[in-house]
Amino acid sequence: MEYKKNDQVTVTIQDIGSGGEGIGRVNGFTLFIKDAVAGDIVEARITKCTKNYAYGRLEKVITPSPFRVEPRCRLHRQCGGCQLQTLSYDKQLEFKQKKIRDDLIRIGGFSPGQVDACMEPIVGMEDPFCYRNKAQYPVGTDKNGNVITGFYAGRTHNIIANTDCCLGVPENERILQCVLRYMEENHVTAYDEASGQGLIRHVLIRKGFTSGEIMVCLVINQKVTHTSCMCDKDVRSRVFDSVSGPNSGKEQQYLPAQEKLCRELAKIDGMTSVSVNFNPEGNNVIMGKEIRTIWGNPTISDTIHVRDMGRKGYPFTGQELTFHISPLSFYQINPVQTEKLYSLALEYAGLTGQETLWDLYCGIGTISLFLARDAKKVYGVEVIPQAIYDARRNAEENGISNAEFIVGKAEVVLPAFYEHGVSEKDFREASAEAMRHPDVIVVDPPRKGCGEACLSTILKMKPERVVYVSCDPATLARDLAVLCDGGYELRRVRGVDQFPQTVHVECVVEIQRKHM
Ligand code: SAH
Repeated sequence: MEYKKNDQVTVTIQDIGSGGEGIGRVNGFTLFIKDAVAGDIVEARITKCTKNYAYGRLEKVITPSPFRVEPRCRLHRQCGGCQLQTLSYDKQLEFKQKKIRDDLIRIGGFSPGQVDACMEPIVGMEDPFCYRNKAQYPVGTDKNGNVITGFYAGRTHNIIANTDCCLGVPENERILQCVLRYMEENHVTAYDEASGQGLIRHVLIRKGFTSGEIMVCLVINQKVTHTSCMCDKDVRSRVFDSVSGPNSGKEQQYLPAQEKLCRELAKIDGMTSVSVNFNPEGNNVIMGKEIRTIWGNPTISDTIHVRDMGRKGYPFTGQELTFHISPLSFYQINPVQTEKLYSLALEYAGLTGQETLWDLYCGIGTISLFLARDAKKVYGVEVIPQAIYDARRNAEENGISNAEFIVGKAEVVLPAFYEHGVSEKDFREASAEAMRHPDVIVVDPPRKGCGEACLSTILKMKPERVVYVSCDPATLARDLAVLCDGGYELRRVRGVDQFPQTVHVECVVEIQRKHM
């Protein structure tokens, strides 16, 4: 059977694709239908066709799947943010568990038996909405010339006006309304990607769930207008200046009517930090490298508790740490699940107090500092300088003195230390031998996974265990294959749903060195 564009088809959806789309088969022909749910019988219109498969647009659900649920957001079909809102949460978890398993088998080359013996059940959320502590809203102009903010439609940069996202915190809406009103009243223009003109590009909002502190950062299409680039000294003095409290009143002007904006934002409960980020580049990277605080503190804080992942309901163990977070630093976006994720990483590291560890891709030192409390020494590596400043301050303020942090790429820093030994310039107190042959290495790379040089150095360092925290099961599986070919074996694998309603999933893995 062959199809052509615009044909109408009726099909039973049997499976969920990696992008969340429904997959159905008619006479051996595969159809991918966005917004269709596994178990639905739907009517769809073919939008694109090849010899063996086709894409279709959902037109009508004839018989709804028993797993179909009422979506919370009216814009869920247009918005590129959520892909699974119409699928029941139990099924979302099942889909993610299967995705991890399939990738380990298909990409990692592990046998189904091996994977099933190691996989623990995925850790879900009790209330899988309003979990995001961070939102990045693009700003643009609609057909009538009005300034709007919202979300990019799936796979495009068209902005869908929406200030009320059900994954985010309720304060987002008021903050965005405040920024839009300020722009209108003061004739501040929105950035236009096509022409490269206009000022405001994005609004970044972050909230510390435990502290209640809120940060707003406006990303503007401009070079920083005075002083040269933000050097390390600037970052440090800004960080420590902030301890003495909000510093409004003496700031440089980066925006028209800047005080008016700050005054309005300051009225919002919890607001403690307003800053400007400079991004004059014509690419689609959201944040530029330079930031200036224009009101309040340069960072917000948040507390993370350790949980006992072996007990029902994952109760707190009584351990907690508080972190300071800069706008440019990475911080896990789902704080409820982050506690479970870090607690698992800590459990998988199996520490007794005697170990030396590396924590690669350490961000602001979150995992490193939890590890440090149960270990002899932790070395953290991270590429963003501001994050390392946050990490050092976080160690100090939590009274942790056995963690050290270094700025650089993991795939450069790790081989350099292994091949050339320790340089005293970089580390205060370091034992070269313990650093070259640590007991445990923890990695938590971005989606693209670990660099090759990083993996091959880990193999040379021969740690007893590697704990791999990953936000992409495909690159995780690829990297685990390299490590397991090099003498390690899978011990435990557990998914953590950091991103309910979306197709993304986080995962923690423990691998152990094989002793011949
Ligand atoms: N473990 C931290 C951060 C994880 S996100 C946490 O849980 O908060 C991944 C981090 O890796 C980010 O902070 C990012 O800035 C950093 N990163 C990206 N590429 C890197 C590289 N090549 N070397 C070191 N760090 C890198």
